[in-house]
Amino acid sequence: MLGKLKTELTNNFKNIKGWKTDRKIIVFSVDDYGNVRLASKEARDNLDKAGMPVESRFDQYDTLETQEDLEYLFDVLTSVKDKNGSHAVFTPFALPANIDFEKIIENNYQEYYYELLPDTLNKLPGYEKVWGLWQEGMKNRLLVPQFHGREHLNLKVFKELLAAKDPQIITALQNRSYTSINFNKYPSIAISAAFDFDKFEENESFKEIIVDGLNAFEKVFGYKAIHFNPPGGREHPIVHSWLKENGIKILDEPSNKKEHLGNGEYRKVYNYMGKMNDLGQVYLVRNAVFEPTQDGRDWVGNTMKQVATAFKWKKPAVISSHRVNFCGHIDEKNRQKGLEDLKELLKQIVTRWPEAEFMAANELGELILAEKDV
Ligand SMILES: [Zn+2]
Repeated sequence: MLGKLKTELTNNFKNIKGWKTDRKIIVFSVDDYGNVRLASKEARDNLDKAGMPVESRFDQYDTLETQEDLEYLFDVLTSVKDKNGSHAVFTPFALPANIDFEKIIENNYQEYYYELLPDTLNKLPGYEKVWGLWQEGMKNRLLVPQFHGREHLNLKVFKELLAAKDPQIITALQNRSYTSINFNKYPSIAISAAFDFDKFEENESFKEIIVDGLNAFEKVFGYKAIHFNPPGGREHPIVHSWLKENGIKILDEPSNKKEHLGNGEYRKVYNYMGKMNDLGQVYLVRNAVFEPTQDGRDWVGNTMKQVATAFKWKKPAVISSHRVNFCGHIDEKNRQKGLEDLKELLKQIVTRWPEAEFMAANELGELILAEKDV
């Protein structure tokens, strides 16, 4: 009972302050598209045999989106229409680059190399049609990708593991995967979080990754990203100016941000929808969560409640999700569950709010920025 009350309060708290609208705007911000985390069922079996643990559904199911994953997703997104006659749209926070596994192995684990997403898709058997589907999805406004970093891993940790010839990273790389690696040397760094750091000065090294990553994004997706959500842990605001100089106008930030200052010290920062930083970038706060393949919750019911709370406070509903919910490469049942719930959620949204409008996250950001200019 108390837990429920606390959730209610948090849901309301996220929406009190900030930009307001009478419109019923629905945004889906979905992280991790384009990322190679786990290659295949065979790779998972090999990691299991090596004693590398499954600690989350990401370790278990989060594979590069397949032809079926995208085709079935498109079917669901087009199963509803909003008041403007538009279907639902995902804003994938996507990675333009991945580990070049073959090249690293060829070079005897001496150095890190990455490759661009279309090159990864070209070399993987069974993935021949995926890049074409990405193009189709973008053309038909089913997918409007924005920037989730260059690659979904912490390079400092990656390089240290590589230099130490850590047996787990070697096993992971040999299986074209980067998951289930035990690493606890730095409490403030997760291995998959590109902009996590131990000492504050390490932020300097992120400049080159951001500049190069945004160029890679443009090369891969055909336009400049304007919206950023960091891969894994939250970024320090010192990186915002490099993002800004390279085209990023909109940042996703949590309402209650625990901001790392270096050496394990943190401060609390309160963010809200439409908050501006002193560089003129606008913050969006994800005020609803939809993770249908995470156990233990009525996700459709819960997300509907959070959307209703957002609308009650005259806020757009920004629904946070992850690709893993819609992945069927390891187990089709995972994708089925995710997509069935998504279909039901979309149906309930347009039924309850016939005036709903599906919008890409960056479009919402631009809308807020345009009003701030007036
Ligand atoms: Zn991510």
